[in-house]
Formats: sequence, C-alpha cells, structure tokens
Amino acid sequence: MKEIVPPIPVVVRNEHASIVEMYDRNVVPSYGRFPIAFSHGLGSRLWDVGGRAYLDLGGGIAVTALGHANPEVTNALIEQSRKLLHVSNLYYTDAQGRLAQKLVSLIGPGKVFFCNSGAEANEGLYKVARKFGHDTGRYEIITTINSFHGRTLGGIAATGQDKVKKGFEPIIPGFSHVPYNDLAAMRAAITPCTAAILIEGIQGESGVTPATPEYLLGLRQLCNERNILLLMDSVQCGHFRTGRFQSYQRILEGVPGGQGFIPDGISMAKSLGGGFPIGAFWLRDPYGSLLSAGTHGTTFGGNLLGCAVALKIIDVIERENLAQNARDLGEWWIEKIGDLVAQFPSVLKTVRGYGLMIGIEFQPEIPALQKSDKPAALQIVQRLHDRGVLTIPSGTQIIRLIPALNLLQSEAEEGLAAIAALVRELA
Ligand SMILES: *Cc1c(COP(=O)(O)O)cnc(C)c1O
Repeated sequence: MKEIVPPIPVVVRNEHASIVEMYDRNVVPSYGRFPIAFSHGLGSRLWDVGGRAYLDLGGGIAVTALGHANPEVTNALIEQSRKLLHVSNLYYTDAQGRLAQKLVSLIGPGKVFFCNSGAEANEGLYKVARKFGHDTGRYEIITTINSFHGRTLGGIAATGQDKVKKGFEPIIPGFSHVPYNDLAAMRAAITPCTAAILIEGIQGESGVTPATPEYLLGLRQLCNERNILLLMDSVQCGHFRTGRFQSYQRILEGVPGGQGFIPDGISMAKSLGGGFPIGAFWLRDPYGSLLSAGTHGTTFGGNLLGCAVALKIIDVIERENLAQNARDLGEWWIEKIGDLVAQFPSVLKTVRGYGLMIGIEFQPEIPALQKSDKPAALQIVQRLHDRGVLTIPSGTQIIRLIPALNLLQSEAEEGLAAIAALVRELA
C-alpha cells in the first residue's frame, strides 16, 4: 500500500500570532502589551520568537540586574534546587539567614522580613505602621502624589495616582497624598492619627523624579520630632541601581548631615532576585520586633531558591563592582542625552536620574506624534522597538532607561545611537 505523505507546509508556523492568540483567548487582559513575544536572551540582548534581536534597556522594569541567562545565576538556581527548594518558615535555613545578614550589613542595624513581590513588601510596611501606631490610636500613612506602591488593595490605596484606584472603591482608609519634594505640604498633612510617611527615593512610575537631599533630611527630622515612621519604597530605585545600594545613600553623598540619614523601614523587590520573584523589607532596630511571632507571614517568603539567587546576585555585583558601572554609565548617559537636549530642544525637554535609572522627558507637542491619540511615551517606546531597542514608558512624556547593572559601554553607545536617530527623525 502506498503511504500517504502529508504535504510540506508552505508557510512556517507563525509563532508570534499563535502566542498572541493564546493570550487573547486565555489571559486576563489587564495589561496593554507591545506586540513582541520573546523567546530567549543573553546579557542585555533579547530575541523574539521570529529571531529578531533587541537591546534591552528596560531590564524587565528594573528587574534583571545581571541581564538575561547569566551563568552564575543559572548555576545558583541549579545548585540550590538540587539540594532543597522549600521547607516553610516553620524552620530555619542558612540561605535566609545569610541573605538577611547581608541586607542588614548593606543598610544598617535592623531586621529583614522576606516576601515575594514589591506590593507585598509594602503591605508589610503598612502593617508595621499600624502596629507602631496602634496603642496611641494612630494608623494613617502619608504618601506622595505620583507615587507607585503596587497593585494590591493596600498598594492602590497608598499609590498617589487616581488611575490605579478607579473602579476599585471603597479604597482602604488611612492613606493621604501630598506633593513630592514638598516638605511644608508633608508637615501640614500630619494629623494626630499619622503613624508613618512612605516615599520612594526616586519616583519611578511617573517620570524618574529623585527626592532632593533637603527633602530627605527634612523628612527625617520631621519624623523624629513627631514620632512618625519614615518608610521608603526602594523596590525600583534600590539595589545598587543608582551607584549605591540605596538611592538615598547616593542622593545624600557629600551632603552635610547626609551620612547619618537612615529611614525606619525599606521595601525591596525587583532587582533583588534578578528575575526570580523575591521581595523583602528591612526595619531599623527596634522596629523589627513590632512583628512578633504570629503577626505576619507568607508561605514562600525567604524560600531557599530565592535567597540563593539573591545572595549570588549581590556577590556578583560586589565582585564586579557593578555599582560603579551603574554610576559611570549613568553619568555618561546624562551627559550624552543632555547634549541631545541642547541640540534638539523642540523634541527633548530634559534628562534626569542617578546611575542606571534615567528618565528622558520629551516635549509635549511633537508634531510627528500628534497623528495618534496614544501617549507620546508609548509612541516613542514603539518607535525605539522598530530600531531594536527596549525602553520603558513612564507617565505620558517620559521614557525610562533601567537596564541591567552589567550593561556594557558598547551597548550604551548602541542605545544612544538609536535614541539620537529617533530624536533627529522627530525634529
Ligand atoms: C514595581 C514597584 C512596586 C510593586 O512591585 P510588584 O513586585 O510589582 O508588586 C512597588 N513600588 C515601586 C516603587 C515599584 O516600582
């Protein structure tokens, strides 16, 4: 009998289309996604399923601290997973103890709690604030306008942007918002019920706005005077991104009185696990003891795999002096993009940031971007995709560069060339 041979397919399977279709059918449509599906990466390079290469200056939104497929991270995952993945927080493990010790040594005397994400780390800080104020009837937390603190019910209550709250009312009570970098507004917002102030060292989601040194020092003094906790959300701006472990350390460098500055609590996530989900918060002594046995917990927090990866990442950052790399490349970017701002004032408004957390602000009414009703930031990010470069939109007019801390000078130059070419096109 003659075998029936199936015909050779004329068209190769379009993986991109089938992936998008799976999402359309099965994934909750809560994200506006760009039309790119990724398959693999190496360092700051990513490849889509069609084989096209991109330079990654977004770092998975400030997450992939050592880039993609870093062999030391891979080995840490493999080695730890051969031994033990998880035992629960009913027991002790060496990895969790060592990571806590490392974070304390990088920040200051205190204690660390491990969780799984940035929003969850912030939730822990809200609970600490409530516990701290409980016996004196205080529970309010003041945060800032244009802040971002995550998407849980507590996170959207804390976030100073109406768009994240809309449709999810009633919002959890006890949060109020004041303008950022405005010490007088913060002072005026304090009530007899205020337990804590929560700010980002550099606001990330609405345009890379750093706190001023005067603001940080003023808040510390205010909190001391009024016996209020000063909490910092370092989920995005922390982890050596600015050239120091914490952004406030960088902002206060060389500022009189800056060396003694320390907040009362710090939340962390994003770069901490370099892509493995892990979050944490640090509490200054003696506030760690506010959370006594039975008051807070999570199943996966501080599991061995996450801690092993986080320890390895800090190891590599310190060994390779990547904080210095972030600082040097950041200064280079600010200078080079500053030149572009001077050259093309009709397109670029300003550039700001510290280290590898940079915001490039575009002018509001660039004629070439008026044809679409999409925000300028989105259109610019997409035009950079067309040039093979990934960046992250922030607010409506700003794009963010938050790449891996081991970005190469040659990669930074490649990215700059693409941005410069786009700016020329828009001029
Ligand atoms: C990303 C982010 C969060 C939320 O972290 P998730 O891991 O997404 O929950 C909170 N605060 C800031 C400043 C962030 O950038």
